[in-house]
Amino acid sequence: MSELAYPYEAPASQALFDRAAAVTPGGVNSPVRAFRAVGGTPRFMVSGTGPYLTDADGREYVDLVCSWGPMILGHSHPEVIAAVQDAVSRGTSFGTPGEGEVALAEEMVARVAPLEQVRLVSSGTEATMSAIRLARGFTRRTKVIKFAGCYHGHVDSLLAAAGSGVATFALPDTPGVTGAQAGDTIVLPYNDLEAVREAFRAHPGEIACVITEASPGNMGVVPPAEGFNQGLKDICSENGALYVSDEVMTGFRTSRAGWFGVDGVVPDLMTFGKVMGGGFPAAAFGGRADVMAHLAPAGPVYQAGTLSGNPVATAAGLAQLRLLDDAAYVKVDAVSKEIQGLVTAALTKEGVAHRLQAASNMFSVFFTDRPVRNYEDAKTQESFRFTAFFHSLLADGVYLPPSSFESWFVSTAHDERAVQRIADALPAAARAAAEATA
Ligand code: PLP
Repeated sequence: MSELAYPYEAPASQALFDRAAAVTPGGVNSPVRAFRAVGGTPRFMVSGTGPYLTDADGREYVDLVCSWGPMILGHSHPEVIAAVQDAVSRGTSFGTPGEGEVALAEEMVARVAPLEQVRLVSSGTEATMSAIRLARGFTRRTKVIKFAGCYHGHVDSLLAAAGSGVATFALPDTPGVTGAQAGDTIVLPYNDLEAVREAFRAHPGEIACVITEASPGNMGVVPPAEGFNQGLKDICSENGALYVSDEVMTGFRTSRAGWFGVDGVVPDLMTFGKVMGGGFPAAAFGGRADVMAHLAPAGPVYQAGTLSGNPVATAAGLAQLRLLDDAAYVKVDAVSKEIQGLVTAALTKEGVAHRLQAASNMFSVFFTDRPVRNYEDAKTQESFRFTAFFHSLLADGVYLPPSSFESWFVSTAHDERAVQRIADALPAAARAAAEATA
């Protein structure tokens, strides 16, 4: 669709998008940014302050993406910026150990009880890839269980998400991933413990680990059913496999101690990213000290990174985590609840069937009248209603994730003025959703 199909224009963004398309595949450096799911011109942002983003056309938006989670204090938080400036003034990368990475690891270990040791990396993808390698190296087994609809970054073996069904051996989701890479991945329906038991029965002594999003946000927000995560942990323990909790999205966002702070289920390994980097490329994996001891140079499982523990990224992450005290979570949870209430009220008023699902302050809206417990459920939603809803909000200065399969994120900086702007924009968006046709 051309941008003229939408009720507003973004000529500066469109010009940048055209330039980008000439030198970058699809004009973006991460696919969802291209707006393919909703159509129209992706907004090229030039600055962010608090809860607001400003695009290349000079339009301001209330940001409900928050860089896909990291910006939990809002944009350009003065203390995070000051920490970054201080770090930058001393140099940007040394390729040696430094105190900043120790301090960040100490802060993480202090907040998350099961995290006895942690290794810093640069992206969530690297964290999950390394955790899987370590789990295989530790258990000396090859197979990995993941759940359909859970995203763990673009790790070859985890880019397999064949639909539901018991113990489906995954076919690669993308060209470039070989059958061999995907073949050791078993993809199961989310929230189905019986499917997990069945897979362990079918492959005795072969499964190295189960990896799951601690509370999934990559098929929209689909929290684990009561007892699901504990069940995974128990099945893993009974079968000599590791339980790997991917907290890249939930870590330090859904509570001080991430999703572990909510459900208390103790993983063997955990992965982190997003919030812990304060808007910079910092991520991590960690967990049981006896498992982490298998990692080089302490042990034989190799893992490394030129920019791992980068001093600027660790300074940003540490500054952000130190600001995230209990009061900050109370604040972000409260504003999230308020926005959730406004969204539900507006859609209900227009008679739009929907389910708003939340995991602490993460939430998303499914345009369906049934509960969404797994990826198959999520795919039954009427995404065309989301498209209309999205474009109406965008036109009125509210920036949602450009896909109905993504979590929305808020920050401590979302104040009454920002909430009011969302409230003002919602009635028209709900009407647009009601009137949308497939
Ligand atoms: N794991 C989860 C749960 C994620 O949500 C993501 C990214 O959205 C990743 C892993 C991959 O992280 P990154 O994009 O930093 O590679």
